[in-house]
Amino acid sequence: MTPATGHLLEVTYFVAAVLFILSLKWLSSPVTARRGVWAGEVGMVLAVAGTLLHRGIVDYKWIAIGLVLGAIIGVPLGNVAMTAVPQRTALSHAFGALCVTLVGTAEFYLRAPDVPPFVMSVLSLEVILGGLTVTGSLMAAGKLQEILPQRPITFKGQNLVNLAMLAVAVAIAARLVMHPEQMFLYPFMVGIALVFGVMLIVPIGGADMPTVISLLNSYAGLSAAAMGFVLNNKLLIVAGALDGASGFILSVNMSKAMNRSFTNVLFGAFGQVQTAVAGGVETRTARSASAEEAAAILSAANKVVIVPGYGMAVAQAQHKVRELYDALTKRGIDVKFGIHPVAGRMPGHMNVLLAEADIPYDKLLDMEEVNPDFPQTDVALIIGANDVTNPAARTDTSSPIYGMPILDVDKARTVMVIKRSMSPGFAGIDNPLYYLDNNLMLFGDAKAFVGDIVKELSGGGAHG
Ligand code: NAP
Repeated sequence: MTPATGHLLEVTYFVAAVLFILSLKWLSSPVTARRGVWAGEVGMVLAVAGTLLHRGIVDYKWIAIGLVLGAIIGVPLGNVAMTAVPQRTALSHAFGALCVTLVGTAEFYLRAPDVPPFVMSVLSLEVILGGLTVTGSLMAAGKLQEILPQRPITFKGQNLVNLAMLAVAVAIAARLVMHPEQMFLYPFMVGIALVFGVMLIVPIGGADMPTVISLLNSYAGLSAAAMGFVLNNKLLIVAGALDGASGFILSVNMSKAMNRSFTNVLFGAFGQVQTAVAGGVETRTARSASAEEAAAILSAANKVVIVPGYGMAVAQAQHKVRELYDALTKRGIDVKFGIHPVAGRMPGHMNVLLAEADIPYDKLLDMEEVNPDFPQTDVALIIGANDVTNPAARTDTSSPIYGMPILDVDKARTVMVIKRSMSPGFAGIDNPLYYLDNNLMLFGDAKAFVGDIVKELSGGGAHG
């Protein structure tokens, strides 16, 4: 590599690193999120292009084959439905971590038995984190796609067994740092990390999977940063550290939004489908209403808060919701959206869908902003949300979601819930909201039902 090429490589890496940082910054608000995606993509293209200038490359043929294969796998992965993004993300982590583990393994066998202690330490960190992320992410994707059972599988002494496995892997790593010539130990270290990834996910229920995926994202980032030290690549260190830190912060924020501690998510076996308490809520009756009645109630309101949830995403009802928003605001009704931080199946899920339907950003209120408004709200219209509105989280100490902050929709004068049946949401628990006196169930598919309300509203009936 000539000095000029080396200089160009450094500049390219620097610009890519700046773009990655800006991308994360911009992704944190819906107003700048699109720009954030672009910055991340351009940064990644620069990182790949810069790396292709590297002096170590002896043959571009295999790189070209890799690029074609990657594109063949990546393009269909990029086209999955929005509701399948969590499992798609888990698969991306699995691929990334597999790459890190394979590169680490190749580096070990290329260098052994002369691996300096520092390199062996970071290389071990790289392949242990990488290995457990490969199998952990595959398990998480399988659970979310419902190929694997969602319920947590627990057994006595599970945490102890898991910790012992990790301790053995770390002990082997320490031995290899001191004696890299004992190459026979290496496959055991990677093997244990792979099994540990499976064991880590087995006790975690489906409802906690998005949080776990974000944590696995963090592990994948840290292993990539470790790989950066092994390969002496500064951009990998920066990008891996950004990935590791942002994944970690996201998992902490998601745990907070569910009022769960990290240890509780990882070891709590949450997400078991509960059967309703005998003699409890299921004996009570819920009142239902038609689209015509719902439209009449809405047109008599002054203040409406719409609460979207996972069902809106499943039904792809966001454009119909936009029509409803237009029909109501045209009548002079004040319409806002109450967004729970873990509504849907991934952070920002509702914001993305509502932005797609061009709902003004200033109408989307976070939970803390909208909750004080509910007592003055005439109608809280819930569209395919369930757990995030469950008042048991406030009142029932025996509920698995007790303590999770919720949207206080039950405090509105009238609550209307669009969903197809009385089935529970993702946490698998009954919702006492549906049996309250001020609640009406609007049974049907979210898109079709909202469409029917819009038809009723445009069919006549003046506001007030
Ligand atoms: P939810 O509790 O899963 O409830 C969604 C409801 O939508 C279901 O009760 C379902 O009832 C209804 N539904 C499904 N398809 C529908 C359709 N086509 N039309 C109308 N309704 C439909 O959803 P949520 O209130 O948004 O809560 C999110 C859950 O995911 C929480 O438990 C949260 O902790 C968990 N979670 C989310 C994240 C995240 O990042 N967003 C992360 C971790 C965990 P029917 O079957 O009766 O229609």
